Amino acid sequence: LLSLEAATVRFGGRPVLDAVDLGVAEHEIVCVLGPSGSGKSTLLRAVAGLQHLGSGRVLLDGRDQAGVPAHRRGVGLMFQDHQLFPQRDVGKNVAFGLRMQGASRGEQAERVRELLDLVGLPGAAGRAVAALSGGEQQRVALARALAPSPRLLMLDEPLGQLDRSLRERLVVELRELFGRLGTTVLAVTHDQGEAFALADRVVVMRDGRIAQSGTPLEVWQRPADAFVARFLGFEN
Ligand code: ATP
Ligand code: MG
Repeated sequence: LLSLEAATVRFGGRPVLDAVDLGVAEHEIVCVLGPSGSGKSTLLRAVAGLQHLGSGRVLLDGRDQAGVPAHRRGVGLMFQDHQLFPQRDVGKNVAFGLRMQGASRGEQAERVRELLDLVGLPGAAGRAVAALSGGEQQRVALARALAPSPRLLMLDEPLGQLDRSLRERLVVELRELFGRLGTTVLAVTHDQGEAFALADRVVVMRDGRIAQSGTPLEVWQRPADAFVARFLGFEN
């Protein structure tokens, strides 16, 4: 579904994404792990069309996305700081992408109801975003990202602002939800527990490069190098 070929992004001459090759298959859940500043968010932004590549290619369904604007790529992105509209109610937030697609009011209301049920917030459409807890806001952001039925859903630290017990519960719910919907997911986290629980495949980044890519078990049992081992918390 998605492939990056030697994708490179530079800021001030420094490569932040350095010739990254990465493929994501249909229905696959891939989690990108790595320390702060390793290029995780830049990777997602490049796929979404919010960040130009210096060189290399992004392909979706085999088609080169160079010059294709973000809203035409059919990918959903949930940002690190989820960026809800605090002054609009939950329903308006979730309907945002549907409105952009030109859905009728009736269609929007129906889909919003469906999505709020899906993320475990039934009947919340009329509630004020500002009055929701952090975890509820994350769910609203997720419903908003899912609303236009993107062929690829990208999540940047989707559970970033939540406490550990809520993260652990939500990660299980998300895995179940994506499996049920058959959603293809590329998610970023710096939390290895989260990545291992959510992903079919884990990609570890370091300084704009992929240090290792494999199933959670492979990466856990055979870290590719000392960096990955240290990052996973092994002493050596
Ligand atoms: P975090 O875990 O902290 O979110 P990250 O892995 O998502 O980190 P990125 O946001 O992709 O990291 O940033 C990678 C590097 O690129 C960082 O050193 C950052 O300072 C730099 N960078 C990102 N965006 C820009 C920009 N617009 N201009 C200049 N440098 C940038
Ligand atoms: Mg980031």
